[in-house]
Amino acid sequence: MTEPLFPRLALIGIGLVGGSIALAARRGGLAGHVAISSRTPATLARAEALKLGDSYHADPAVAARDADCVILSIPVGAVGAVTAAIAGVLKPGAVISDVGSVKTSVVAAMKPHIPKGVHFVPAHPVAGTEYSGPDAAFPELFDNRWCILTPPEGTDAAAVEKLATFWRGLGANVETMSPEHHDLVLAITSHVPHLIAYNIVGTAADLESVTQGEVMKFSAGGFRDFTRIASSDPTMWRDVFLNNREAVLEMLGRFTEDLTALQRAIRWGDGEALFNLFTRTREIRRGIIAAGQETAVPDFGRPHGKGEDPKESKA
Ligand code: NAP
Repeated sequence: MTEPLFPRLALIGIGLVGGSIALAARRGGLAGHVAISSRTPATLARAEALKLGDSYHADPAVAARDADCVILSIPVGAVGAVTAAIAGVLKPGAVISDVGSVKTSVVAAMKPHIPKGVHFVPAHPVAGTEYSGPDAAFPELFDNRWCILTPPEGTDAAAVEKLATFWRGLGANVETMSPEHHDLVLAITSHVPHLIAYNIVGTAADLESVTQGEVMKFSAGGFRDFTRIASSDPTMWRDVFLNNREAVLEMLGRFTEDLTALQRAIRWGDGEALFNLFTRTREIRRGIIAAGQETAVPDFGRPHGKGEDPKESKA
């Protein structure tokens, strides 16, 4: 038998993403021993009951000791403190990474704590669902999704390639870019869409003339798809907006200008402007389906009458 890519893998944080890494790493035979740590005893006990790893530790530094690769899968607002807590035990030559949905602030928070000789390769798997916690984890989460690596300048190329190999082994396609570029791209493809969903669901909830019953009853008219996104984890998304402020505000500015143009088109009866935009946007969805990033099945492939598919994917 060949030696696994990482003889000891430490997963700090074992919710949807950390748990899915554990399951996919086992499926791919990528790790020897998987050491797991989570902040609360309840989550750690759940990870153990689900047999996600080989050892379970309340103290992240005990999990990270002697690890060949350490991955933080925790809210981006918490990565600095946790890196500081484990820095002293990191093995020279080890790779330390994360999965945070924002990269510039994560690099700023983690990098100062990382000892010389340890390779820091931040990562963001663009894959997820609106569910959280270890029970939400499944091994196929990253299959045919993108994982973006944002190594700071001067990072050891072999370490970057090792982590890229790991992510390919988890099922993902890998791309490398700067943290700043990552944050701009994700602001428009993920962060602003989530903000719009949170906002429209909040607006509907506040409308006193529309009863709760009507919102539920007629939700299939488009609103329901927003409610799925708007049910995503509040802690994770609070941290995303607090940590990607500049890029989100930049994209929101553009969004608001375009929305004003649409408002004007509606006010002045400019059907051509509306038709042209809607034709262009339909092509974008077709492109996403052609790229294998979405299903072409009507209504997102929902099994009608049987409830939603809990593994339906979002970026
Ligand atoms: P999750 O299912 O809610 O799991 C979060 C994990 O982080 C749990 O182990 C939790 O521990 C731990 N944690 C929470 N607050 C913490 C703190 N202050 N200090 C230390 N540990 C803490 O979250 P997730 O969906 O896996 O997301 C984790 C990371 O992945 C986030 O950075 C997010 O940006 C990124 N991400 C998420 C998605 C997505 O769609 N969900 C996609 C790509 C990337 P306890 O339960 O023990 O408190």
